[in-house]
Amino acid sequence: MGWGGGAFGGGGGGFMGGHSGSAGNGLPFGGIPTELMDGVNKILATEPEHPVADIHFTQLPTSDEPGRLSLPQLLSTYPAWVIGSSLLAIVISAAAISGPLLIGYAVDHGMNPQHFSFATVVWCALLFLLIAVASAVLQRVQVNVTGRLASRIMHDLRIRVFTQFQRLSLDFFTEEKAGVLMSRMTSDIENLQQLIQDGISTFAQQGLQMVTMLVILFVLNVTLAFWTVVLVVPILLILSIWFHQASEKGYLRSRDGIAGVLSDLSESLYGIRVVTANNRQHRNIRNHRQVVGWYRDANMFTGRVNAVYGPVTLMIGILGQALILGIGGNMYLHATLTLGALTIFFSFLSRFFQPIQLLVQQYNLLQQGRSSIIRLRELLETPPSVTEKPDATQMPDIEGRITFENVTFGYDPANPVLHDVNLTIEPGESVAFVGPTGAGKSTMAKLVTRFYDPTAGRITLDGIDLRDVTMRSLRSQLGVVPQEPFLFAGSIRTNLAFGRQGITDEEINEAIDIVGLRDLIDRLPNGLDTVVHERGQTLSAGERQLLALARAFLARPRVMVLDEATSSLDLQSETVIERALDKVLEGRTAILIAHRLTTAQRANRIVVIDHGGIVEMGTPSELLAAGGVYAGMYDAWLQSGGRDVSRVTPAD
Ligand code: ADP
Repeated sequence: MGWGGGAFGGGGGGFMGGHSGSAGNGLPFGGIPTELMDGVNKILATEPEHPVADIHFTQLPTSDEPGRLSLPQLLSTYPAWVIGSSLLAIVISAAAISGPLLIGYAVDHGMNPQHFSFATVVWCALLFLLIAVASAVLQRVQVNVTGRLASRIMHDLRIRVFTQFQRLSLDFFTEEKAGVLMSRMTSDIENLQQLIQDGISTFAQQGLQMVTMLVILFVLNVTLAFWTVVLVVPILLILSIWFHQASEKGYLRSRDGIAGVLSDLSESLYGIRVVTANNRQHRNIRNHRQVVGWYRDANMFTGRVNAVYGPVTLMIGILGQALILGIGGNMYLHATLTLGALTIFFSFLSRFFQPIQLLVQQYNLLQQGRSSIIRLRELLETPPSVTEKPDATQMPDIEGRITFENVTFGYDPANPVLHDVNLTIEPGESVAFVGPTGAGKSTMAKLVTRFYDPTAGRITLDGIDLRDVTMRSLRSQLGVVPQEPFLFAGSIRTNLAFGRQGITDEEINEAIDIVGLRDLIDRLPNGLDTVVHERGQTLSAGERQLLALARAFLARPRVMVLDEATSSLDLQSETVIERALDKVLEGRTAILIAHRLTTAQRANRIVVIDHGGIVEMGTPSELLAAGGVYAGMYDAWLQSGGRDVSRVTPAD
């Protein structure tokens, strides 16, 4: 059935994790009440099947990705719809033009004082009516066709942009604000949708009408058409060029403005706890007023530009009509122009300016669409900084020997934060990285998980350079517990079963016992099916860390990387987690970035890092006996109230 089969987060199996519970998305926790079951079955019987999509994801965009993002490229994906919409545009334009022609015909052939013809007038009027009705029906069809076309194109584009987000490396997300990226997905894509839905068809239709009307005017009377064009078009052209430049400037400003507003908004919302705790509300409001003010200024500039262009074109239109009245009226009096032709001129000229008015309005849309395309194209063409080689191989099952060979690395290559690091971690060994904040501990861990690549030197796993294997195969052997454990909106079960496919309930329960979360699960209203809210804000920081540990454990990796994973725990949970760690890390290679020296003491080996290099290395007892940097840290830790664990060994 449709509601149970959607994949959640890719690797975790179905949202329900194959379980028969009913706390899935949108379903009541206690299952479907029996009295509603009949109704539910009825609805489900008529529901179309939603098979799980077969997702093709590669680290590098390959040849099967569509070409460079542009409007023609987007449209070319649905040629039949585009052709259908264009044909409709032609027919609707023809219908619009035929109206004035019929009037002209009726004036010349039905109302001519020499021979009145009532029948001609009636036939023309009936035909006029028929065409108007047919045109209305066709316009309805066209709105439908372009609407569907735009929805399909945007659906594909959203997936394409999202896939690119999945592909990009960590540095990209560090540099770009989440709000700015959100605005790519929201306002930029919506601009394009509007452009495709309304803009292009209006442009095509109105442009087509203008050209056809011009041709007809010249056919009817070259002199009058010539004067109209010569006197009207140059002014219009100059005005349009000015408008083009001014409105482009305005739109770029307003795009930056909305991106600024969104990013300030998302930062304030995500950081609401910090904001409240630090009494920053006033400062935040002032800040937001400023970014909102920039956005308002940008919009007002655009408004002013539009306020000039719209009325001035209207005025030129009226001038044009006056011109026709003067020149054309004179020609009629001299019998070089029929009354019908003069009527057509009037009627066409007023229609000639209507498309221009419409085009001016749609031009804004075109501008917006254009800058959105440029921004989206830039995003789609940003290569991930950590790339996979085209000939990358599968990482075989490993024992877990990690080697840093002369590794130098800087987030900005000109300023290295790690200098010529050499280190070997044996299979099954647990190594604690200790050292002051900013020393480079997390950076070393990020290099092992290949979130970044070394600037110089290399890192190997069982002798294989990390850059020679596919990211997928590498990461499937690594378990990472980040500093700020992230939980997704969903049940605890789905959050735990995230790292590997086919995780059973038995395994999940075993992991829960190992990390000591049984009490929590028993306390929760729906056990494993309890829905944790976005980012797990309803759980304590310690509980989130334990869940993240259980998740990493369930992925059964050969190598575990724990970044300060015990920093949020109280003394009691600390003891629980230390025991849990011994079990979780059993037989695995582990890197522990240890804030608390209790964790470091249980590791097989301690590596002291400072200023981007290794300053000391050895077993805990060796380092304490040596009386060096680590022994100093340990003394300071004891004095600040730390528990003496100098005699605790991993075997305890
Ligand atoms: P530790 O984990 O030892 O506290 P880190 O490895 O996180 O230290 O940081 C090492 C240095 O790199 C610090 O000076 C830090 O400011 C810098 N750094 C960390 N992350 C980034 C980043 N994404 N971009 C630029 N510099 C960074």
